[in-house]
Amino acid sequence: MSQILRAVRGMNDTVPPIADRWRRVEADITRVLGQYGYREIRFPIVESTQVFARSIGDTTDIVQKEMYTFEDRNGDSLTLRPEGTASCVRAVLENGLLKAGTQRLFYLGPMFRHERPQKGRYRQFHQVGVEALGMAGPDIDAELILMTARLWQVLGLQDLRLELNTLGTPESRALHREQLVAYFTGHLDLLDEDSRHRLTRNPLRILDSKNPALKALIEGAPRLVDFLDAESRDHFDAVRVVLDAAGIAYTVNPHLVRGLDYYSKTVFEWITEALGAQGTVCAGGRYDGLVDQMGGRATPAIGFAMGLERLMELLPPAREEDLPEAELYVIGAGMEEKAAALALAEAVRDALPGVRVLCHCGQESLKSQLKRADRSGAAVALILGSDELAAGQVTLKPLRGQGEQRRVERHALMEHLLGLLGAA
Ligand code: ATP
Ligand code: MG
Repeated sequence: MSQILRAVRGMNDTVPPIADRWRRVEADITRVLGQYGYREIRFPIVESTQVFARSIGDTTDIVQKEMYTFEDRNGDSLTLRPEGTASCVRAVLENGLLKAGTQRLFYLGPMFRHERPQKGRYRQFHQVGVEALGMAGPDIDAELILMTARLWQVLGLQDLRLELNTLGTPESRALHREQLVAYFTGHLDLLDEDSRHRLTRNPLRILDSKNPALKALIEGAPRLVDFLDAESRDHFDAVRVVLDAAGIAYTVNPHLVRGLDYYSKTVFEWITEALGAQGTVCAGGRYDGLVDQMGGRATPAIGFAMGLERLMELLPPAREEDLPEAELYVIGAGMEEKAAALALAEAVRDALPGVRVLCHCGQESLKSQLKRADRSGAAVALILGSDELAAGQVTLKPLRGQGEQRRVERHALMEHLLGLLGAA
């Protein structure tokens, strides 16, 4: 035997029953998004590199060192999507979706970033992302945050805290930027290599540094809030009024900036202490300049993305209702009974479409088929032997202690099953 092959480092399989949990959580999330009128959009996993280079900003970690970029056989530069917003805006523009004025969209799927894999940080990870396009006011910002709060409530997550900030307009940021550069240039000896690099290219992002040694220096840096324009300040205050009225607790973190260049005004993160350094579960903000930057007519927009791996790690481990392999296990005792067993399984699926029916395939002895039935987690086994076939009956064997094995008439089977599985 040759060695088995392995998945790429930082890219994980999701096997049953964990994949069942993922599907349930995704269904819970998309149901809540639907309550707010968000509709799904799907776009390719691969885009031309331009889509990300033009939007995310070439001074960001993502574009500088995290993208999976390659040349295809035609020599075109392609990139595995590292996030969804850029692709979403590309798709919205290409399909003319803004003709309707506004759009509320969500997407769900894998993203790819070449980062150092660790708990909560992978090279293929999954996001649910939401984008609200065409709405400029603070009302939609607030509604988005209310929606995320409802998500945590529905998922049963309690220990997330909300941090909020405003990045102002590009103009107010430019003033702040000058002061920041002066401040950090005065402390050049304290900066790490990464931050020195950012100092010339995108000083705001030094505030986003995860290096604990820089914490005190960053605390003392000039604050954007002191340079804020009146419009951004009013916008921010209006968002806070809604959150306060809804009883949503938050802290204003003046150093909260986003890793991507395209944000303006409102930014927010939902953070947990339970996942160590990878504590941000959901991050978002307003990006009024992006649509224009990507070739569309200037359109205000706001969105967020949440990391599903981090979310799943916060949920309690495998819950009891994790689906068993099957609820009903159908056995044909010998080869002659197999055809009848398959037909019986079909009839059950017709009559009881909500039930998971597994029909034993293979030529094992009755004993090992029953063992297999038991391992499947099924509540009931249906057994067809030659006697049963001849008599127009089925043997019904409860596997989880709901009474004795018995033979029932084939025509009365569904009623018996309803009683048994309902009670299971
Ligand atoms: P971080 O600061 O943790 O690197 P980020 O600012 O790069 O996050 P975003 O681009 O805002 O993250 O992505 C939104 C969310 O996607 C994050 O808050 C996180 O939950 C999740 N996420 C981002 N990168 C990864 C990754 N490599 N592995 C798992 N989840 C991730
Ligand atoms: Mg990152």
